[in-house]
Amino acid sequence: MEIKTLVSKMTLEEKAGMCSGADFWHTKAVERLGIPAMMVSDGPHGLRKQDTQKDNPGINESIKAVCFPSGSCTACSFDRDLIREMGEALGDECQAENVAVLLGPAANSKRSPLCGRNFEYFSEDPYLSSEMAKHHILGVQSRGVGTSLKHFAANNQEHRRMTSSSDMDERTLHEIYLAGFEGAVREAKPWTVMCSYNQVNGTFASENHKLLTEILRDQWGFDGFVMSDWGAVNDRVKGVIAGLDLEMPSSAGMNDAEIVKAVKNGTLDEKILDGAVERILNILFRYEKNKKAGVFFDKEAHHELARKVAGESMVLLKNDGILPLRKTGKIAFIGKFAEQPRYQGGGSSHINSYRTQSALESVRGIADVSYAQGYQTKEDVTDEALAAEAVAAAKGAEVAVVFAGLPDSFESEGFDRTHMRMPNCQNDLIERVCKAQPNTVVVLHNGSPVEMPWANDVKAILEGYLGGQAVGAATVDVLFGDANPCGKLAETFPVKLSDNPSYLSFPGEGDRVEYREGLFTGYRYYDKKQMPVLFPFGFGLSYTTFDYSGLKLSKTEIRDTDTLAVSLKVKNTGKVFGKEIVQLYVKDVQSSYIRPEKELKGFEKVALNPGEEKEITFTLNRRSFAYYNPEIQDWHVESGAFEILIGKSSRETVLSAQVTVESTVRLPVHFTMNSTVGDLMKCEAAKPFIRELMKYADLGGDGDALGESTAAMMEAMYANMPLRAVCGFSNGAISFEKIHAVLAQLNQNSD
Ligand code: BGC
Repeated sequence: MEIKTLVSKMTLEEKAGMCSGADFWHTKAVERLGIPAMMVSDGPHGLRKQDTQKDNPGINESIKAVCFPSGSCTACSFDRDLIREMGEALGDECQAENVAVLLGPAANSKRSPLCGRNFEYFSEDPYLSSEMAKHHILGVQSRGVGTSLKHFAANNQEHRRMTSSSDMDERTLHEIYLAGFEGAVREAKPWTVMCSYNQVNGTFASENHKLLTEILRDQWGFDGFVMSDWGAVNDRVKGVIAGLDLEMPSSAGMNDAEIVKAVKNGTLDEKILDGAVERILNILFRYEKNKKAGVFFDKEAHHELARKVAGESMVLLKNDGILPLRKTGKIAFIGKFAEQPRYQGGGSSHINSYRTQSALESVRGIADVSYAQGYQTKEDVTDEALAAEAVAAAKGAEVAVVFAGLPDSFESEGFDRTHMRMPNCQNDLIERVCKAQPNTVVVLHNGSPVEMPWANDVKAILEGYLGGQAVGAATVDVLFGDANPCGKLAETFPVKLSDNPSYLSFPGEGDRVEYREGLFTGYRYYDKKQMPVLFPFGFGLSYTTFDYSGLKLSKTEIRDTDTLAVSLKVKNTGKVFGKEIVQLYVKDVQSSYIRPEKELKGFEKVALNPGEEKEITFTLNRRSFAYYNPEIQDWHVESGAFEILIGKSSRETVLSAQVTVESTVRLPVHFTMNSTVGDLMKCEAAKPFIRELMKYADLGGDGDALGESTAAMMEAMYANMPLRAVCGFSNGAISFEKIHAVLAQLNQNSD
């Protein structure tokens, strides 16, 4: 039956009922019409299907599944194909478990390193987030299962997460916080989108017509349904009108009754409700059509994939030549995380892993490794006995590898961190081990950046993030060179928390969170301020070396409707196979708008054998050069020169070339008596008037006698003078009437 026909057969109560969950994870069935219930489950990096006990903070057990690395880790792979492959595996698990929609990926651009959910989010850069989300979605959905791209939008903190308002200007909203979703929605077409808990500029995301309908559907072409985050509904009827189709979980019938009442009293047009029901049913039957019976997934194969993803995502941050480790000789593994890795975050994404592989068990049979626990994670206090044992183990070996990072209690969904430090007991242990053993390597397990007071004292640092259930095996692969590290940071590690641009206004006052740093998040800020950072965005080392050469642009002048091909060669100049992440940044050389120093607009991961060279090509389009213009409510390119920068990281750009882009869109101009002479100077049609005006450009002094600086001062004063003042300064020679007539003419021309 056609969905529209089906909806026409439903009673008002059935339709209202369709718009909220039956329980925590299911929609309601309407048996008399053959509409089955549909199950949704978390997400994003593993399947958390709760069969019996139901809750969303992840307290009760879910079925056994495979825990892949979390978003902050996988983003460092910069590997579209890999993320897609992981998505396919997740899609298979959903098929096998009769789950119609996997709740993820989470594409919020990161604002502060303190946000409790940063481990689920990909990056501080919206282009990278959106590319990662896109391929995650394409992977899952290729298996006939939906995704729920979340949390839409500007969900950047846990503090007062269900009431706070993320307040920002339009450019920041579009260029940073919506852009992380936009490409994923437009190009991967998620079946559903999950609106966030928070308000955006004073309106709850769950009843935000601008976000859920005007932007998501009308501009980006989203054709699935929007579901609420769990408990995100504020006013259910306003939500339906704004475009929130499904409320999750159940509201025990209370909000369904509100919907019925609103239709009956005329505050809600039944057609709007019908639209919401149609969108839900469309997806429900899309899943029913694609549902496969008897799908089993190979847990071991997925575990191996989790290992590969972790290995390709880890970031080697420092290496004074100590890595890869030799398999001969004595090595000490120190730290509780060597035995019990912290490999996933707490909260709704917490997976009941069917297996975990620690570094300690993985290294058996590979090298002669001793172990000392070193610290405990219950409280942040140095255990002298454990520390002494660790120091002895370090002394008794040729190399010490300390596994450290953030314990669960330091970072989770539900609360934000209050500082960026690791536990003192772990920092203290690392210092003591370094003193006992000059060959010390640190492996980190954390969901977001930490300060590293010991960074100069250790020989190598391997950032493993929350690497999923196979993280131990992947770490051993990388430590001993069986895998060559090839991840790069998807976020900046500032030297200290107070360097972060959101520091002064995070987490806001009451419910009001003003994003005062505006566009300048992450490297956009640190670069513009020319600030030292601990490790920059896009940075990561390898066991081999790469050379970049031969940068070519297909043209040096384009219009903003053209595309530009950018190609270059990358060569593996070292001795082992490796993968390099090549980054392309665009810099607006001269702009009348406030813009970041440069922005990531392309990346490619290239696999190269020793001595091998490959040519790679990026294609840039209008969007690569554009900023969001609130006046025309669209992206706009300002005509002028742009620099194409090719980087090994955001701080190490090695090749560059210039292109001139001509805009095909004329911005509306409207001159008033308060427009300045300088504003008019930019307008071709105003030239005759300016010439006339300049005849009277005498501000009373003797320009010649006072010298060049005075002449420059007079020019600047004129440039900044509003037209209303020109009359007086020209001694009435240019009358108000004359100026009004010129303005009328100019404004007419620009209409
Ligand atoms: C989280 C979502 C999650 C949902 C269901 C919420 O608390 O914010 O990310 O998908 O619960 O567990």
